Amino acid sequence: MPIRQARDRARELRRKLGLQGRVDAEAVASGFGLVVVTWPFRVLQEMQAGGVIAVARRLDPPWRRWVIAHAIGHHLLHPGNHLRMRRQGLLDDAVEREAEEFAGALLVDGREAIGAGITGPRDVARHFGVPEEMVRLHVLPAPCASGGTEAQSPVPTGRF
Ligand SMILES: [Zn+2]
Repeated sequence: MPIRQARDRARELRRKLGLQGRVDAEAVASGFGLVVVTWPFRVLQEMQAGGVIAVARRLDPPWRRWVIAHAIGHHLLHPGNHLRMRRQGLLDDAVEREAEEFAGALLVDGREAIGAGITGPRDVARHFGVPEEMVRLHVLPAPCASGGTEAQSPVPTGRF
């Protein structure tokens, strides 16, 4: 599945649910019948199996929001993968990238940011309550990363 499709699914969901600003990712998850629990993982950030999303207790609210959105992405985009684990800083295959891009598009709305006059990654991260690192990696356009598909983005590139 092209990365753009993962983003489109997330944008569509954000619009359909009327989400604005900081998303209550747990509420979105429960809308899909997914239960979020907290777990004392030391290395893992998130593990998903059988309709349960286990989130590491050590995560702060922005990371917690992000990894839950990531898990929702897997649930919607990758049915049939019954056990998935996310480790910090690990993006080892296309499926993981798709879940990350889904999370970025579910949690951050470029139009909303521009409308609110927000342009820098730090302010975008604060406004939407997501990790600044992930705004830089997955929300800001990555040069050449997707073979030019950014040109089709409804959001002007280079603005935030
Ligand atoms: Zn994952």
